[in-house]
Amino acid sequence: MSTRVYIGLGSNLADPDGQLRSALSALDQLAQTAVAAVSAFYASDSLLPGQPRYTNAVAALDTELQPLALLDALQALENDHGRVRAERWGPRTLDLDILLFGDHLIDSPRLQVPHPQMHLRAFVLYPLAELLPTEHCLPDGQLLAERLAACPFVGLERL
Ligand code: ATP
Ligand code: CA
Ligand code: CA
Repeated sequence: MSTRVYIGLGSNLADPDGQLRSALSALDQLAQTAVAAVSAFYASDSLLPGQPRYTNAVAALDTELQPLALLDALQALENDHGRVRAERWGPRTLDLDILLFGDHLIDSPRLQVPHPQMHLRAFVLYPLAELLPTEHCLPDGQLLAERLAACPFVGLERL
């Protein structure tokens, strides 16, 4: 049985738009996984000052993988795209975060879903809202519309 999953994509190094296009094609080729929809690309200011701007997008996947198997596959894809893990929130060629995994609530050492910061991040919520109705109820009981209303469209540009 497949589960609808939402992935946040981000890059701010080495041709960010190209990194996202390449990642989307690799996601569609993952075993037991297909890309169902992709938001527009957005340019966003980095969380830490002094970094290049990011390109961000959100993709909807249908997958038969279990959550940790999907996380393994995403981390392998990040590594394939030259991701080097240095400082937290440092610049990166590719970041793939699991935002939502069906309506699962997951709190394990390697994986927290919904992504703990997603409701604070315009670069996640606005692209996500292209793929989900704003009356969608998130697993924590909040409506996407309420999250959007609390998160101004600041530092973000729809490309
Ligand atoms: P942030 O999580 O705040 O967006 P980040 O994306 O820069 O920061 P990473 O260095 O990419 O953080 O990931 C650190 C660890 O977060 C990963 O090794 C992974 O085990 C863990 N993690 C926990 N929840 C998730 C999730 N929902 N999606 C992806 N990784 C997660
Ligand atoms: Ca991230
Ligand atoms: Ca990440």
